[in-house]
Amino acid sequence: MKDISYIINHLGEEREKYSNAITPPLFQTSNFAFRDVEELKKAIADEKNSLVYSRGNNPTVEILCKKIAALEETEEALAFASGMAAISAAIISFVNNGDHIVCVRNNYSWTNMLMTRFLTRFGVETTFVDGRDTENFKKAIRKNTRIIYLESPNSLTFELQDIEAVAAIAKDAGITTLIDNSYSSPLTQSPAAMGIDIILHSASKYLGGHSDIVAGMICGSSENILRIFKNEYMGLGGIISPFNAWLMLRGLRTLQARIDRIAITTTKVVEYLENHPMVTDVLHPLSKRHPQYSLAVKQMLKPTGLFSIRLAVTDKRKIELFVNSLRQFIIGVSWGGHESLVFPALSFDDQRTKDGYSNNLIRFYVGLDEPDSLIRDLDQAFSRIT
Ligand SMILES: *Cc1c(COP(=O)(O)O)cnc(C)c1O
Repeated sequence: MKDISYIINHLGEEREKYSNAITPPLFQTSNFAFRDVEELKKAIADEKNSLVYSRGNNPTVEILCKKIAALEETEEALAFASGMAAISAAIISFVNNGDHIVCVRNNYSWTNMLMTRFLTRFGVETTFVDGRDTENFKKAIRKNTRIIYLESPNSLTFELQDIEAVAAIAKDAGITTLIDNSYSSPLTQSPAAMGIDIILHSASKYLGGHSDIVAGMICGSSENILRIFKNEYMGLGGIISPFNAWLMLRGLRTLQARIDRIAITTTKVVEYLENHPMVTDVLHPLSKRHPQYSLAVKQMLKPTGLFSIRLAVTDKRKIELFVNSLRQFIIGVSWGGHESLVFPALSFDDQRTKDGYSNNLIRFYVGLDEPDSLIRDLDQAFSRIT
């Protein structure tokens, strides 16, 4: 059992080195000085564990990585300039020309783009499967399948995969598993404990938690992390800045309080929406009416703030009027910060994959607002369209 309070307030911090400052210092430096050539030579030979240049190692970033790795129960972690920098570096690190990926359908749009429009240029093919049925992963595996990529749940239609079962199938076949765990944060779902090899985060969401940074994380074994460090991390260079690492450390201190608070508020808002006549569906994995509720309970600890509804109306003007009428929910992409958000699927172009999407699908993110304030806001917006 991981000790979250210890990880967040102590792990990786060597206060005596920094005048016993309570908060870790921001090492806003690109490079480091050496006493002599011999010392420089030694450092360059082991750049991951030395301080040479901040595209490799930086003390502020190092503290952050130790904490995130411990939260995800993996040996090590690396921090990136965005979730996509982390996701692309991780995927690229496992595939070569001629390889094959099995990926859950309806995954994050830019990850989907990476697979369908970018990796194809380098001879890497991806098969997308309906991940609600574990058998679909088994059926899609080929001789050249190198990775299975999961997103449980995905962040618009909230379909789950049985993480433990898919990890077991992959292990049998010698295939590496990756999961985008941004939806859950390390506090509500622990994929490593279920057998997943690589855990990815858009830290722009819960880990940062204040809508003020774009960042990403890769968590995994020391062996995988060292290989990614020496190749994709330093070679593609999509690293986090020390300042954004420092801001994430700041955000982490309230992670547990935010996640707990959001769970309580979301439960109230979801209950309100489930009983509203203008709503036909509430798609939240931990709603008792979610078709995969029992799987959600098995692998997720508590509700997080992101979910969708289907409105009972299909008239696009009414859907737009409903969204435009919201005041406490801000119209916007992303999530995981303090502010509550609304994002209508009708803002997509027609190029997107359409499994389960429809114009009356509206995604909500419940932030740190008072539940009553959010429910009042929804009430007045519904009254505009009834
Ligand atoms: C936001 C998001 C990403 C991309 O992360 P960035 O930090 O925006 O690059 C990837 N996956 C999921 C599920 C996301 O929500």
